Amino acid sequence: MNQVIRYELEGDVALWVLDNPHKSTNTIDQAFLDDLEACITRLQSEEGTRGAVITSAKALFLAGADLNDLERNDEAMRKLPPAEMFEKMFTLSRLLRKLETCGKPVACAINGTAMGGGLEIALACHQRFVADIPGLQLGLPEVQIGLLPAGGGTQRLSRMLGIQAAMPYLLEGKSLDPQAALAARIVDAVVPQGEIVERAKQWVRSGPDCVKPWDKKDFRMPGGAGPMDPRVAGLLVVSNSLVHEKTADNLPAPQAILSCLYEGPLLPMDLALRLECKYMTRLLIDGTTRNMVRTLFINKSKCEKLYRRPVDVSVTQFTKIAVIGSGLMGAGIAQVAARAGIEVVLMDVDLAAAERGKAGVAKRLNDSVTKGRLPADKAESTLARITPSNDYAALRGAELVVEAVFEDRGIKSTVIAAADEILGPNAVLASNTSTLPITGLASYSKRAKNFIGLHFFSPVDRMPLVEIIRGKKTSDVTLARALDFVQRLRKTPIVVNDSRGFFTSRFFGSYVNEGIAMVGEGVAPALIENTARMLGMPVGPLAVQDEVGLDLAVSVTRQTKADLGDAWQPGTSYPIVEKLSVGLGRHGRKSGGGFYDYPQGSKKRLWSGLTDIWPASDPQPAVSEVRRRMLCIQLIEAIKCMQEGVLEYAADGDVGAVFGVGFPAYTGGPFSYVDHLGAARVLRECNELAKRYGERFKAPRLLREMAREGKRFYG
Ligand code: NAD
Repeated sequence: MNQVIRYELEGDVALWVLDNPHKSTNTIDQAFLDDLEACITRLQSEEGTRGAVITSAKALFLAGADLNDLERNDEAMRKLPPAEMFEKMFTLSRLLRKLETCGKPVACAINGTAMGGGLEIALACHQRFVADIPGLQLGLPEVQIGLLPAGGGTQRLSRMLGIQAAMPYLLEGKSLDPQAALAARIVDAVVPQGEIVERAKQWVRSGPDCVKPWDKKDFRMPGGAGPMDPRVAGLLVVSNSLVHEKTADNLPAPQAILSCLYEGPLLPMDLALRLECKYMTRLLIDGTTRNMVRTLFINKSKCEKLYRRPVDVSVTQFTKIAVIGSGLMGAGIAQVAARAGIEVVLMDVDLAAAERGKAGVAKRLNDSVTKGRLPADKAESTLARITPSNDYAALRGAELVVEAVFEDRGIKSTVIAAADEILGPNAVLASNTSTLPITGLASYSKRAKNFIGLHFFSPVDRMPLVEIIRGKKTSDVTLARALDFVQRLRKTPIVVNDSRGFFTSRFFGSYVNEGIAMVGEGVAPALIENTARMLGMPVGPLAVQDEVGLDLAVSVTRQTKADLGDAWQPGTSYPIVEKLSVGLGRHGRKSGGGFYDYPQGSKKRLWSGLTDIWPASDPQPAVSEVRRRMLCIQLIEAIKCMQEGVLEYAADGDVGAVFGVGFPAYTGGPFSYVDHLGAARVLRECNELAKRYGERFKAPRLLREMAREGKRFYG
């Protein structure tokens, strides 16, 4: 008896309806595989049934494998010998091949988004109809979480389109709407939603050929295949180099997909499918995939479903908010809130400044319209929700206020106190500070329990993360409201406790500090920057500091020194930054030079004067040494944040590191990566580095305990 795929006979055509009664979305789990096998077997043996149509009863056609299952079964899977793991993984591919060669025509009526395994089942069918539903997407996004489409996706798509045309869908996970899928020849027809099943049935009844081209004798790969074919030989070599350049060999999935495209088309389909699954099994054995699935999918979804939200607080529907400070960040926050349908008062010192902030929003919205990313009417209504002002009375009735004025405690205290006077008793008052402790800022408000940190990242409209910081007195109700607000903006929240720099700035700061410190030791600046990129960091530490501004680093350090008094200790990078910024007026990109020079009309280049001030040591350290310094210092800072209670859950740290500050996705974030390497190994690295470079590499107590007791952050 089928559980998740209903088999309905409609005259001489079978209708297979994907409809898992226990889940809101159809996914490929064991019940699905069992039902699929039963459907194929019945169709083959059922006399009088000419063929089948597959469709879905859910809004989403089929979402692919249930990644939560993958994570849940991870321990058990890792214990399996590779051959058994292969057989388990091969089940879907084997069934789709059975479907493809069942001897009767099967059409797919795709009436909702079909991603991953969802599209692979359609590719295995003999004809694909897709409903013309706005927002419907088709794609194979597996590569984005470290996997490959192992249900025949790499082999069928390349045989249908040719290797070159299939590459963007497989290597980048590019998805398509119905018309684009038709143009790309991934589907055969786009049909009105109400007619799709009927059209598919008609096709089955027309007695079509149901032997795939690649199962016929005269099949030739469109566009050629293999290293000896001059039509693709160059392409295969070049794409290999491009993937190498893009991933620095840190991501195994794109390489595995390339291998599938290189070797698979030279083999008969049945063998090619086994080859594809062999590469998938390898990916699962390599921990990178596990790291990526956990952080990019499971933990990110947990954060978006507000797993940290106190449960007994009713949900807040925001109608009006205010943002104080209409600069880079403030205007960005106003934009995303207005885009989410909330009325926004955008305040600054005078009306002209506030209007400049709004004009910046208008420009960005216009750009999005021009690039086709936003309908013009949406841009217009978003802009109409923003009211510039310089009058605190305009804050009246706001359910939430975010201050985003200069990073100056004096200015922030005045603004917070002024907003406090006007706001109602339940309103949330938030700060977007990136460094100042929230508990201290809350003291300028009479209702510290309503005060919280909402740390957005730049550019606000594009960066997905918001770091929510609980001050010592922040109430559960305020936390719940802040989470509701971030969810309304469709951003990913993490929740951390108060500390100078919270989690993300501390974590990222350790990387920048280490990179700059190496300049002072005579490590070649190019070696530092290039190694950072090879590690997978999006930008080198010297380039980052130039973007942020060396003068800002000086003023933040001075503020910290004033706050901490005798307890203050300069970071190892500070003398270098001070020398360049205070001593030489090199404040970074905005002043025309910092660690880099920015010649007009050509690319930036590292400033040659750096090695005059800090001569290059001879010999230079190995790339591997520079790499492990940059990596370990960040792991240490993350572990310290956990040890000090700044972080309560590894998931917040991992999601924050990857989505907030671009820590390499293949690691899954610092905590997944410590688990991946093993605490004992990380401890050994720390001990060695501490001997060479000093106390900052000393292993935190938590790491030593974990190494001793064989503990992990997850599981
Ligand atoms: P900015 O200099 O671009 O904008 C600050 C704005 O505040 C200016 O428009 C200024 O006129 C206004 N302002 C100053 N005093 C004011 C007052 N008394 N009343 C009203 N408005 C006033 O700065 P920014 O980069 O947008 O940073 C703002 C805050 O966000 C800072 O606390 C900063 O640390 C934090 N932050 C910045 C970034 C970033 O990448 N720039 C990232 C995260 C957080």
